[in-house]
Amino acid sequence: MPIAAKSIAVQEAKAPLGPWSFERRDPKPHDVVIDIRYAGICHSDIHQARAEWGGEMFPMVPGHEITGVVRAIGSSVTKYKVGDKVGVGVFVDSCRSCAHCKRGLEQYCCEGMTGTYNALERDGKTVTYGGYSNVIVTDENYVLRLPDNLPMDAMAPLLCAGITLYSPLSHWKAGPGKKVGIMGLGGLGHMGVKIAHAMGADVSVLSHSSKKEKDALAMGADHFYNTSEYGFFDKMANHFDLIVNTVSAEIDYNAYLGLIALDGSLVNVGLPEKPMPVSPFSLLANRRSLSGSMIGGIAETQEMLDFCGKHNIVSDIELIAPDQVNEAYDRVVKSDVRYRFVIDISKL
Ligand code: NAP
Ligand code: ZN
Ligand code: ZN
Repeated sequence: MPIAAKSIAVQEAKAPLGPWSFERRDPKPHDVVIDIRYAGICHSDIHQARAEWGGEMFPMVPGHEITGVVRAIGSSVTKYKVGDKVGVGVFVDSCRSCAHCKRGLEQYCCEGMTGTYNALERDGKTVTYGGYSNVIVTDENYVLRLPDNLPMDAMAPLLCAGITLYSPLSHWKAGPGKKVGIMGLGGLGHMGVKIAHAMGADVSVLSHSSKKEKDALAMGADHFYNTSEYGFFDKMANHFDLIVNTVSAEIDYNAYLGLIALDGSLVNVGLPEKPMPVSPFSLLANRRSLSGSMIGGIAETQEMLDFCGKHNIVSDIELIAPDQVNEAYDRVVKSDVRYRFVIDISKL
């Protein structure tokens, strides 16, 4: 029997979110039925609800930072049992057979991962709906186990914001002796500060105002810089081994590349609507790299959750009711979020 689901959905591009009922699939043998408790609001939800990336499908139920409790399991499920605390992140399937999937890099699946929402299932027909909803049905291989010692509301943002920063910080070896800059102290950025600090790096926040200085230092940043201040780019030239750019708006790549030390990297994870020009001269000085990174694979996401459990890392959240989502979207766009909105799904 298909499962009745309640949600907060967008009916067409840029329309406000409102209540919508639909059905989740009849669970297959490897499916886990999850009662969703909390869903984080990622800036990617807003980009897609407002059709800023192209190819969006409506109605859309956003949400890919999901924590909940297992309600039921399919006949062949071995990894989870009823009552387990679990999470679902940005994707719910992939081809499972390409070289990238076999290496645990499902987010880079050669055939494309299946997004948790605004995507088609592997059948190429069924639309996926995300976490602003009371229930989700997900294959056990794409479900994560949550650490016991962390609160389920503040853990939700780890499923996207957390892994999106953990993966590049780990890949580019943030750690003792490395000068790491985090650009943008929003949902992603604040997780980056906490994770890079726990990895032992020297962490700087690069923010476009001075407003968040106190918070950044309290989160574990060693230094805070207001990038709008006169002389900042000269003062900090050639300083950083690694900068992760989480900014959701267009930035001047060439100015930020000037901050990168010999053999260092500027890794982009922010996804603004418009392209940004790069001068080859900014790259060849100091043999710099400009790279991108997308979330993380299932095994790495589990590794990140366990790391956060060990280091007591969660997101700084503002818990909201479902009817406050539209207002929350506007506040995120104005950089007025401290530091992630999480929807209390029990109020749906
Ligand atoms: P967010 O909470 O809105 O944070 C973005 C931050 O960027 C803001 O807090 C602000 O930090 C800075 N910023 C915003 N507007 C700016 C402007 N006009 N000029 C300069 N700085 C500005 O967003 P998020 O949820 O962290 O997501 C950030 C971006 O990453 C989005 O584009 C999202 O789609 C993308 N994303 C990518 C991945 C991936 O896998 N690569 C995963 C998730 C999200 P300050 O106030 O400190 O300057
Ligand atoms: Zn996200
Ligand atoms: Zn694949």
